Amino acid sequence: MKNEKSGGGADSFDVVVIGGGPAGYPAAIRAAQNKLRVACVDEWKNRDGSAAFGGTCLNAGCIPSKALLESTELYHRVHEEFAAHGIKVGGATLDVAQMQKRKNGIVRGMTQGILALLKAAGVTALQGHGTLRAGRRVEFTAHDGTRRELSAQHVVLASGSVPIELRSAPFKAPHIVDSWGALDFETVPKRLGVIGAGVIGLELGSVWGRLGAEVVVLEALPDFLAFADQQLAREALKHFKKLGLDIRLGAKVTGAALARGAVEVSYEDAKGAQRIAVDRLVVAIGRRPYSQDLLGADSGVTLDERGFIRVDEACRTGVEGVWAIGDCVRGPMLAHKGKEEGVMVADLIAGRFGEVNYKVIPSVIYTAPEIAWVGLTEEQIKASGRDYKSGVFPFLASGRARALEQAAGFAKILAAQGDDEILGVHIIGPMAGELIAEAVLAMEYSASSEDLQRTIHAHPTLAEALHEAALAADKRSIDSINR
Ligand code: FAD
Ligand code: NAD
Repeated sequence: MKNEKSGGGADSFDVVVIGGGPAGYPAAIRAAQNKLRVACVDEWKNRDGSAAFGGTCLNAGCIPSKALLESTELYHRVHEEFAAHGIKVGGATLDVAQMQKRKNGIVRGMTQGILALLKAAGVTALQGHGTLRAGRRVEFTAHDGTRRELSAQHVVLASGSVPIELRSAPFKAPHIVDSWGALDFETVPKRLGVIGAGVIGLELGSVWGRLGAEVVVLEALPDFLAFADQQLAREALKHFKKLGLDIRLGAKVTGAALARGAVEVSYEDAKGAQRIAVDRLVVAIGRRPYSQDLLGADSGVTLDERGFIRVDEACRTGVEGVWAIGDCVRGPMLAHKGKEEGVMVADLIAGRFGEVNYKVIPSVIYTAPEIAWVGLTEEQIKASGRDYKSGVFPFLASGRARALEQAAGFAKILAAQGDDEILGVHIIGPMAGELIAEAVLAMEYSASSEDLQRTIHAHPTLAEALHEAALAADKRSIDSINR
């Protein structure tokens, strides 16, 4: 694509990015690294009215949820695990206010960090609303109401997503909340209802369950983690039940009413009409793309039937010089997917090589045990008709996992019969989210399971589990019984 440099006026840019989340801010930084003149417009406002870059991920998603998952897992371990190490901790108590203060401090530090990164890269950071008009003009309205028109050679739309509201259980804070509300509870609810046993439901259900809430999760589908490898899903369900999460599958919520400070949730399952009473209800049934007042009537950019901005493989919208990335376009709603799209687009704009390998995007659920996968599930491979082999290594046979007192779960590798291509890797166990990176790299470079078998892994490490799983795929595991 032709890349004309901007004229250099105060409101004239090579690239204007609308949205400063994990898709938008990397696009802006990479474009600036490519020596382009860049502005990044973001309208995020926190509940206290403060503006912040970083979007959903840093302000109300990935980062605060992981901060609370870490704190609550430590609390859980003090009570459930330390004694096994011979450490007796008397009177360990909970200070939710301090837990929340720590989380808020991490979020503040990270979001201020984004602003510092933008500035250091030479990006003009503008806080307020952006609307795309015809001819790659962006109408910018600052939070104080002042307006400017920005012109650009290229506009990158990165407006993100918002939670889906359930008609039968509309949000009504503080009782019926979305994930952001559930990250900010000031006390541990005695009874917590969660609608949706997806990633958010499991992570936030774990957070509050570990602190003592009685958690009931209502999931509409009959299968647990239907989108994941089912051997992994079965193992996960076992552990969530052990943690105390009461996960009810095939549950169709029909209503939620406030009564005497509690929420009465009605639902239907195979046995008929059911009812539960909870103190707080989290609705986590997915997110939808967000594009409110983003596209002027003359912008030419179109949405699909589900509200996603239409793009091709390289994130081009079909309007010359207008691109879209992250949660507002097709594909998994993951921060790292948006980031790579942002980098790709910024490089393509500068006339450099850019590509996203959509087949090799890792997924991680940050529960305990952690769950992570990349590539195809066993069910998907079976459906494709391809001959495959499977190697599974249990963490019970890992010295490091035993030393950590976290020997639950397994690493599983699926490879093609014949050329031995790695087709999918599924891990449930300690640090699965870190371990999956090796599988991602292996698949990105088209490694075979034999390549992993022949790669030396330090001992004793958790990473040996993937090494042994690869060996197990050929019934050559050394540290577990080959089946
Ligand atoms: P967003 O992060 O939503 O950012 C979009 C930004 O654009 C926002 O700041 C918004 O205010 C701004 N904006 C929108 N329209 C305009 C406009 N017209 N003008 C100006 N600004 C505008 N993903 C992971 O990969 N790992 C995780 O661990 C993880 N945990 C999560 C936990 C929770 C509780 C939630 C809710 C999500 C989590 N996600 C996680 C998903 C992740 O947050 C999203 O995939 C990611 O934030 C998408 O990035 P984005 O830049 O596309 O959109
Ligand atoms: P999700 O799609 O992961 O799960 C939603 C769940 O709700 C599904 O199991 C679905 O079957 C169920 N559901 C849908 N409608 C329902 C209904 N009416 N009643 C009961 N159950 C219903 O969505 P989420 O958990 O809300 O997360 C939203 C997005 O945020 C996801 O795309 C996810 O990728 C992202 N996210 C990622 C992470 C992570 O990477 N660790 C963490 C949190 C969120």
